[in-house]
Amino acid sequence: MGDYKSSIFIRVRLDVSLQERLKQKSKIRMVYICRRETFNASHKLYNPNWSKAKNEAMFGVCANENWHGHNFELVVTVKGIPDLASGMVMDYKVLSKIIRREIIEKVHYKNLNLDVDFLQNKMPSCEILIIEFWKKLAPAIQESNPRAQLHHLKLIETKNNFVEYMGEGLELYQDLSLHPATAEDAVLIVSGILKLTGSLSKK
Ligand SMILES: [Zn+2]
Repeated sequence: MGDYKSSIFIRVRLDVSLQERLKQKSKIRMVYICRRETFNASHKLYNPNWSKAKNEAMFGVCANENWHGHNFELVVTVKGIPDLASGMVMDYKVLSKIIRREIIEKVHYKNLNLDVDFLQNKMPSCEILIIEFWKKLAPAIQESNPRAQLHHLKLIETKNNFVEYMGEGLELYQDLSLHPATAEDAVLIVSGILKLTGSLSKK
C-alpha cells in the first residue's frame, strides 16, 4: 500500500517537473515576428472642449485648422512558437492581410479626425492611435491564428517621433472619446468623488 502511494507521489513530481521543463522549452522557442506597413494620412491635434488659443498654445502648428499630414509607418510584432512543419509563427501574408483589413484600408489617404469610424470623437495623437490600433489588431490576430499573439506595436509619425505600445492597462482605455462634458457627466463625477471621500473617511 505504501509503495502504491509513493509511486503516485513520484509520478506527480515527475509530471510537475515535465510541465516545468516544457514551459521552459516553450519560452526558449518563443519567436517574435515583425511586419511593417505604411499609410499616409492627415489630422490635426485639436480639443473641441478648449478655446482656439488654448489649442494653439498646447499643440502649436499641429493644431493648424486646415490639417497637416504624415507618412506613417506601423510595425506589428507578433509572438508565438514556430510550427515545426511550416517553420512559421504566422504566415507574413496572412499577418499583412489582417493589418491592411483592420487598419491600413481604413486610414490610408484619410483624414484621421473625420473619416475613420473607430477614431470618431477621439484625439488622433500617435498615443491614442496606437491604442486604438491595438484594440483592432489583438483580437483579429488571435482569431486568425491561436498560436500567435500580438506582442508590440510601433507607430512612427516622423523620423524623430514615434510611439510604442504593448497592450498594458488596456482596460483603462476602453473609452477614449473627447465628448464635451455634460451636466450628466458632472453629476457622475461629483457622485464618484462623494463616494470616494465617504469610503476614505470610514477608514
Ligand atoms: Zn501631426
